[in-house]
Amino acid sequence: MRRSPIQLTIWRGLAASLVLVFVLLAVGCDDGGAAFSGRQAMNHLRTQVGFGPRPVGSEANRRTSDYIAQVLERNGWQVEFQEFTQGGLPIRNVIATKGTGPLILLGTHFDTRPVADRDPVDRSQPILGANDGASGTAVLLELSRVISPKVTDRYQIMLAFFDAEDRGNLNDWPFSVGAEYMAAHLEIAPRMVIVVDMVGDAQQEIYYEWNSSLVLMEHIWHIADTLGYSQWFIPRYNHAVIDDHIPFVRRGYPSVLIIDFDYTYWHTTQDTLERVSADSLQRVGIVLQTLLEGEPFASNPAAQ
Ligand SMILES: [Zn+2]
Repeated sequence: MRRSPIQLTIWRGLAASLVLVFVLLAVGCDDGGAAFSGRQAMNHLRTQVGFGPRPVGSEANRRTSDYIAQVLERNGWQVEFQEFTQGGLPIRNVIATKGTGPLILLGTHFDTRPVADRDPVDRSQPILGANDGASGTAVLLELSRVISPKVTDRYQIMLAFFDAEDRGNLNDWPFSVGAEYMAAHLEIAPRMVIVVDMVGDAQQEIYYEWNSSLVLMEHIWHIADTLGYSQWFIPRYNHAVIDDHIPFVRRGYPSVLIIDFDYTYWHTTQDTLERVSADSLQRVGIVLQTLLEGEPFASNPAAQ
């Protein structure tokens, strides 16, 4: 017998529906929990930008750290503020902890640069920091929702939101004041430190960074490749960047900075919502989630 074209179409439709049901069941049964959502991350990004420029010591900066703490607590994390002053200004890191086991630290900065000192037109204004400040924070906030017991049963995860990264070279301030303070007060040596910054560029290109651990970068960029992201995660060295990973690199912890440093609007008044995309946030979030949920990784083979 021969099936008519209409019967064939029905059979194909049924077969496709069955495949879909199996896929949905498989996803539902995975104890990895919820998947990272770029759209949710974008909501966190928009909220931060809605507070306005968020330089150290500003009201908007304080509202941002309050917001970060609220989201983390809502997602079931133990949250603490790490507060101190520098140059007469209050500084407040937000640190969230969950799980037991070797420590993995993921960090980002939430403050924004007080002046757009690379702006071609007006260098007197503060930057809005849709990418530089809000993007890394948005990714780690959404990650705080999706990190599952599969991860926290194996590791102690710390999510660190640093204040005072981006006042460097202004009024004799260094960069990474918040991260330096946290690194100096860490009581446990982290197995790995991953810092994300400026990851939201709609024209995303993330290269190896010279101050980061090569072993760790190879591992992360390989994960990106297996996810089909090789167009955006390019395993070649490009920039050397001074950022919040440096205080941890100096202390000998395996550390990596995930940054897209080819961003035309860096430290300009044009670092706005139009320059960033949910897809870019999603790729970085999925890579981090896959890394944490994957097989234990020896970031320092010599010490094993
Ligand atoms: Zn910056």
